[in-house]
Amino acid sequence: MLTGLMQPMPLNISKILEHATLAHGGREIISRNVAEADWRGNYAMTAQRAAQAAHWLKDLGLQSGDRVSSLAWNTHRHFELFFAVPGIGCVLHTANPRLPDEHIVHTINHAGSRILLYDSNMGAIVDRLRPLLTSVETYVVLCQADYDAQIASFPESIDWPVIDENAGAFLCYTSGTTGDPKGVLYSHRSVVLHGLAAGLSGALSLSAFDVILPCQSLYHATAWGIPFAGAINGSKFVFPCDRFDGASLQSLIQAEGVTFSGGVPTIWTMYLDYLAQTGEDTGTLQRVVIGGSAVPRVMAETFQSKYGVAVNQIWGMTEMSPLGVLATATPQIASLGQEGMNDVIWDRQGRLQFGVELKIVDEAGKRLPHDGQSSGSVLVRGPWVLERYYRAASSALNEDGWFDTGDIATIDVNGFMRITDRKKDVIKSGGEWISSIDIENISAGCPGIKVAAVVGVRHRQWEERPILIVEPFDDAKLTEATITEWLTPRLVKWWMPDRIFFEPVPMSATGKIDKKALRHKYADVLVQSVDQQR
Ligand code: ADP
Repeated sequence: MLTGLMQPMPLNISKILEHATLAHGGREIISRNVAEADWRGNYAMTAQRAAQAAHWLKDLGLQSGDRVSSLAWNTHRHFELFFAVPGIGCVLHTANPRLPDEHIVHTINHAGSRILLYDSNMGAIVDRLRPLLTSVETYVVLCQADYDAQIASFPESIDWPVIDENAGAFLCYTSGTTGDPKGVLYSHRSVVLHGLAAGLSGALSLSAFDVILPCQSLYHATAWGIPFAGAINGSKFVFPCDRFDGASLQSLIQAEGVTFSGGVPTIWTMYLDYLAQTGEDTGTLQRVVIGGSAVPRVMAETFQSKYGVAVNQIWGMTEMSPLGVLATATPQIASLGQEGMNDVIWDRQGRLQFGVELKIVDEAGKRLPHDGQSSGSVLVRGPWVLERYYRAASSALNEDGWFDTGDIATIDVNGFMRITDRKKDVIKSGGEWISSIDIENISAGCPGIKVAAVVGVRHRQWEERPILIVEPFDDAKLTEATITEWLTPRLVKWWMPDRIFFEPVPMSATGKIDKKALRHKYADVLVQSVDQQR
């Protein structure tokens, strides 16, 4: 080998903040806060506060590799901790406050965190958990009177230490829908590479002109890496704290000139409903990246045709930092014309992105062709895909070094992937698969439906059949008959749900339909009705 002669500079997260400060120091960082006035700062001020926080953490005795947990919303303090904690070689575990108590306790104990930093409206949760937390020595409230006061006396600059790029930086837990949450430990290297790739024009396409309103939680896979992608590009940030309702988002979009936002579909359902109710428009908003679960086509259509806002679907998972694929145009797709392009972009999760190798395989593990028809398990590998879960004794990869995502999909000739289901949500009826995502997507287009959930339940003849659970908008007048009328011309006959139920659809801690709860609740509903008819 002839060794390359370039600088072997490790990829460090602190470099992102240093760059943002030098190149975009005056670019604003705005934040709503719990029971405090909005914070108005910029990258230079964020860097000063991150330096103070870093000195303070070291003063508390934190050593390289130690873990710090946060129970915090989307605020400027949480953002500065994204740099301060890994900046000194420690690991930030972003606990998810929407998990059940026992799961939050499990994640903090499993992380072995020495410090817990929490927003002031999480006091009740922390009081409940405190007796059960085994490693936390110091509790600090993220507010002026506590955290701000504690960091205030420390220097506003720091020489960030050079850290091995493979050192852990963030510990993010999966939401535990299948057992205890599992820890995914991002490294400096994975975070920096992911941040660079996420900002590319074929991905989130961020620039210094963008004003980003992150509506994906900072505790959910580091808000999809947007804090880093945005800082690398010098974008302005507007943090909404814990207020994701339509009115709150709209006031920030209007006041701060937001151009770019993103989050799970539920948030955008609320936002579009708010606009429909008030007759307001989307102002400066140009793009919304939506993912975490399938984006109903009607959502993308409404954003574009009514408000001129582009929707890009994203697919990924905590184990992938989380970027996997993103639906952005290419010349081939654009040449199909607006409608043809929409058919591709709105009905697919996204296209292959550099940095994530992705393949679909059949049950024997054999690679399937990219023909848009063959569907199989989605396997991934790459520098921001996990190798093993935190504290796990063995690798999470198969013998060939690929990670099985648990999703089933097709890929077409243009590299666009279409998820048909998660393996555990697949409905098998009479030996054939029915895509719950497709039925949900079509149902979501029915006027009056706020959320549509489809699960497979036991059936004597067909093994499983789909049922549809509908949460209507408050003022909607929906009946089983109107929904059936909507679905009949749009679904193949045997995909038609056997029953339709009306109730608020339960959501998981990461904004996904809680299908486990629904399957449990309705497990025997078709079997019982047959029994009753007898
Ligand atoms: P959790 O911890 O709830 O599993 P993740 O965000 O890691 O949270 O979940 C990842 C899973 O979410 C993926 O494996 C996939 O099933 C689903 N998902 C994410 N984005 C999409 C999307 N755009 N369309 C359909 N499913 C999606």
